[in-house]
Amino acid sequence: MSKFWSPKVRELTPYVPGEQPRERLIKLNTNENPYPPAPGVEAVLRDFPADHLRRYPDPESRALREALAREFGVEVEQVFVGNGSDEVLALAFQAFFCHDRPLEMPAITYSFYPVYCRLYDVERRALPLGGDWRVDLDAFTPGSAGAIFANPNAPTGHGHGREAIAGLLERVTESVVLVDEAYVDFGGESAIPLVERFPNLLVTGTFSKSRSLAGLRLGYAVGSRELIEGLERVKDSFNSYPIDSLASAIGIAALEDREHFDACREAVITTRERTRTRLESLGFRVLPSQSNFLLVSHPEHDAAQLFVGLRERGILVRHFNTEALSDWLRISIGTEDEMDSLIEILEGLCR
Ligand SMILES: *Cc1c(COP(=O)(O)O)cnc(C)c1O
Repeated sequence: MSKFWSPKVRELTPYVPGEQPRERLIKLNTNENPYPPAPGVEAVLRDFPADHLRRYPDPESRALREALAREFGVEVEQVFVGNGSDEVLALAFQAFFCHDRPLEMPAITYSFYPVYCRLYDVERRALPLGGDWRVDLDAFTPGSAGAIFANPNAPTGHGHGREAIAGLLERVTESVVLVDEAYVDFGGESAIPLVERFPNLLVTGTFSKSRSLAGLRLGYAVGSRELIEGLERVKDSFNSYPIDSLASAIGIAALEDREHFDACREAVITTRERTRTRLESLGFRVLPSQSNFLLVSHPEHDAAQLFVGLRERGILVRHFNTEALSDWLRISIGTEDEMDSLIEILEGLCR
């Protein structure tokens, strides 16, 4: 606490990201991609003229937005880019969710959303999850300030199909429905084709996970022109240049390599399903997942103790210290070798 802080800052409970350890550990705690970014990214890093950094970047990030618009089959005016999708989410909170009604979200979802609620003084209404810990789309109500959830959801891994999302959008028409698709490339179904039909749908995505660029900080949103314009108004009242010129060039190079993208996400999916089977044979309950992580629980072994046991043996996974999740571990999908090490150590710990 400091007397120099604004009153609001004293009351914040900031998001706590997964640890980035200094020592060499097998890192299965922050859902990073275990494979390198597309080779074209390396080429940009090699050839980018340093002199270009003298100038401010394009405030509209036109070239990157055009590449994303081509990727998703939408107009460039329907694409917004930000410094990681966390920033896009923050701008979306300010642009769409600051009303004197509560914002609705699942009780268990990406834990950054409640943090933004506090920062932007948005009241939160937590909706209980449905069976198998699925997001209950029927629980969202039309009179709220809006709806936000990750699909596939985090840290549970289940994703709803496009038609289910369309059903929600047919009911909730007077406020923004934000679908966070950070994990959609690992087996989910994107809601982006619905933006033509529903002007209140905003879909966010990131280069951090499926494109192996978490260190670059690049995220985006796709929606109707009026929603994108709302985001631009907030962005240009805060920081007109969120995307630096190098990040923009790297993002474009990553989007150009479809083959690399598909190979990496298929490898992650294959390893995920193999890991699921092996964890189940060790007695773990493993939730179905369309993402690059598994949420697991063991009926006979305490999750916090397993977390410590794994860490002592060089593997970092995620344990959330909340009541609902205290029995669970979230394990990011690494390479086959990394998962072999995980299983080997768990075999010892679960004996
Ligand atoms: C990782 C993650 C993000 C943040 O992505 P960045 O682009 O790295 O900021 C957003 N939403 C969810 C659900 C995530 O898991």
